[in-house]
Amino acid sequence: MYSNSRYQDVIDSLTHWRSPMPAALRRGWYGYQWREQRNSLLLLTSISCCAYLAFVLADCAMYPDIANISLMVRLPCTLAALAIIWRFKKQPAHAKRWDAVALPTVTLLGIASFYPILQHKGMVSTGYISSSLSYVVVACLITLTSFRWALIACAFIGMTALWACIQVLPSIKMALTEFGATFLPVYAFCLMVCWNRLLTSRRAYMRRILIEENVESLDSSNRILYAEAHNDTLTGISNRRAFEETFRKRLKQNSNSPSAFGLMLIDVDYFKAYNDHYGHLAGDQCLQMVAHVLHDTLGSNPHSLSANVFRIGGEEFAVLMEDAQPDTLHTLCNTLVNSVRDMHMPHISRPDELNSVTISTGACLVPAQTAIPRESVLTRTDHHLYQAKKQGRNQAVVGVL
Ligand code: GH3
Ligand code: MG
Ligand code: MG
Repeated sequence: MYSNSRYQDVIDSLTHWRSPMPAALRRGWYGYQWREQRNSLLLLTSISCCAYLAFVLADCAMYPDIANISLMVRLPCTLAALAIIWRFKKQPAHAKRWDAVALPTVTLLGIASFYPILQHKGMVSTGYISSSLSYVVVACLITLTSFRWALIACAFIGMTALWACIQVLPSIKMALTEFGATFLPVYAFCLMVCWNRLLTSRRAYMRRILIEENVESLDSSNRILYAEAHNDTLTGISNRRAFEETFRKRLKQNSNSPSAFGLMLIDVDYFKAYNDHYGHLAGDQCLQMVAHVLHDTLGSNPHSLSANVFRIGGEEFAVLMEDAQPDTLHTLCNTLVNSVRDMHMPHISRPDELNSVTISTGACLVPAQTAIPRESVLTRTDHHLYQAKKQGRNQAVVGVL
């Protein structure tokens, strides 16, 4: 049903959850993530930074000998990180830019986390565990929009933490045990949360695209259906349904309308005789020609800037003309009659002398700010058409209601 390749990409990605995000959709996804998650992202990173600050203060209380250096290094770094995070609230920046500042921020916090501890070798490990644990949470949360960045951040933090363990603890074995037991599970957990969030957001984004595609496709189907329902298949111009809708709408508006409008009913003269003589197929072609001439004449005539032609029956047409004046309506009716006659399409079977296809037109001008029933307008216009026929055809009779 759908040939759209974007749609197919999304279906494939949703069916096989491991398949990568289609390249064409990636950019849109970053934007989507940022729009949808910006506030929760900002809130979570701020909470993490505050938690980090609390750990810093707890460290200071536990190890008063490094409190000064700890506060001097960690406090400005945390405040700087908070400032960077909240700057994003002010500007609807792209998620990619968020990721680009995330890693330097994480690095800053990382250095700030380990530096004071390394000043005091032999310290119990809980100090740097608590600091770096909150640091990891911050790192993973602020790198939420890209798993690659989260992985890089975790790898960097891991190496720094391992190095710090080796520096502080007496043996490599103890350092590795400490690292494996306390740090690795935290990194794994954070990465898992990050990955899970990204997958969820990716699926949500792709579902949204599917809905958009469906709405779009429904929209275009509706447009096609509407056009088909309002178009005459033989001549390509608007059909009776379109005429009825437009005419009723215009009549309804007329009591408040500042300008008058004109209705014309057009009938091909002696068309039965044309059909009988030239055949039904030639009759169809004749109707097509007449429709085209009427349409083209209206399109090129200065008096018909806002006039539309409709095929309302077999060999019957209607024209609705906006901003009509008695003289412009009269001129336009005669122009249409002349333009069909000037096609010189042979019609030798008609009883009069003309020998070519012609039309007769009856028209009525509906004055502005009047509420006239539809039937009255149609009956009056039809009466004018009847008069045109009676007076010899190939002519127009125009009146004002
Ligand atoms: P008048 O000048 O009084 O209008 O005479 P007329 O012969 O045109 O009028 P009448 O209503 O008697 O004939 C209309 C004819 O139009 C009858 C029908 O065969 C023909 N007709 C109606 N619809 C179509 C169509 O879609 N294709 C073709 N080829 N002929 C059609
Ligand atoms: Mg007729
Ligand atoms: Mg006719």
